Amino acid sequence: MERLQKILAQAGVASRRKCEELILAGKVQVNGETVTVLGTKADPATDTITVAGKNIGAEQKLYLLFNKPKGVITSASDPHGRKIVTDYLKGIKERVYPVGRLDYDTEGLLLLTNDGEFAHLLTHPKHHVPKTYLATVKGVPHGTELDKLKKGIMLEDGMTAPAEVEYHDVDPDNKQATISITIHEGRNRQVRRMFEAVGHPVTRLKRISFGNLFLGTMKRGVYRHLTKAEVESLR
Ligand code: URA
Repeated sequence: MERLQKILAQAGVASRRKCEELILAGKVQVNGETVTVLGTKADPATDTITVAGKNIGAEQKLYLLFNKPKGVITSASDPHGRKIVTDYLKGIKERVYPVGRLDYDTEGLLLLTNDGEFAHLLTHPKHHVPKTYLATVKGVPHGTELDKLKKGIMLEDGMTAPAEVEYHDVDPDNKQATISITIHEGRNRQVRRMFEAVGHPVTRLKRISFGNLFLGTMKRGVYRHLTKAEVESLR
């Protein structure tokens, strides 16, 4: 049994606050009875819950881990007709949306879900999920430059939090290096801006982990469902 406003928010109806308003406004029914008391509990598996006459209990929660190729937009539509992540979700009828975003040119691990509350929780700035990227950069950064990234560096929108940074592959012949970087924030184009700030622009960026989920050997453009334990590990 769960509080009704939580069930509604998890079903993606609206924010929990807005769901409380819907309940108070008499828009919510449980098994045909209008409920206007906020503490009321229900069981989404067995109770029929409707909002303005529409059944919300029927939708199954989906949590997908997708290996986004580069050249794909992390959004539900694109006015310019470019490829979007949901083009790759053959066999998924539910409307899922990305948890955070990856740039058009960034590849790698992206979560998608229809659980609004879960998505909101993981993208909230207070929820510091570690995210690891492999960044191929121009030139081979010195240890002192990596130290700056580790400590935190000033960007246009303020100091970055400490990050874990390591050499992954150094290729002086081709004047490039691949660096593994783990950040605990999710600012717009953050990794690209951090390397830019130390004079080593990123030429390729791939997210290889999110919390304790890893991309592993998954092929590009492929998705899989998360296990229950994986979903719980992120909450
Ligand atoms: N940092 C970036 O610069 N780009 C991404 O897509 C993700 C993190």
